[in-house]
Amino acid sequence: MRKSAGYRNNLRFNWRVMMVPSSLIDYVVAHELCHVVHKNH
Ligand SMILES: [Zn+2]
Repeated sequence: MRKSAGYRNNLRFNWRVMMVPSSLIDYVVAHELCHVVHKNH
């Protein structure tokens, strides 16, 4: 019981750590590409 609860918490933590930065990176990369095309936006 305790072990599976810890596993679930760990999974949720890893999901956050992996998903949040990758979405941020996608946003930043997309924005940088926008700057290449539209430099004065
Ligand atoms: Zn911009």
